[in-house]
Amino acid sequence: MADCLFCRIVAGEVPSESVRSTESTYAFRDVTPQAPVHVLLVPRDHYDNAAELANAAPAVMVELMREAGAVAADLGVADSGYRLVFNTGAEANQTVNHVHLHLLGGRAMGWPPG
Ligand code: AMP
Repeated sequence: MADCLFCRIVAGEVPSESVRSTESTYAFRDVTPQAPVHVLLVPRDHYDNAAELANAAPAVMVELMREAGAVAADLGVADSGYRLVFNTGAEANQTVNHVHLHLLGGRAMGWPPG
């Protein structure tokens, strides 16, 4: 989608700091990190949210989760712990409507989230 920020990042039209890449997924650093490790994982194809991705392309959803585990290991937070979050919709503060999995780690995190 031409007006989608994360489609443009996947296409290389908007710069990003790459972390990992597969044929169908891309992982890059969040530009406003909320933890020492804050990575966004996206499918290369556009889906608005996690449910839409899971219904339309379940294998890609599984790959996204597998890649999240690999990112956590690569960046040294697999053992200390990390949080995976799909913000979905306005009240969850989803600001980019291209499904993205937040991976946060490197500090203790409270629960419930704000
Ligand atoms: P959400 O609020 O769940 O939609 O998350 C969107 C995330 O995208 C936020 O954490 C932003 O900091 C992040 N973000 C926005 N623009 C960029 C960008 N150009 N590169 C990397 N991350 C971005």
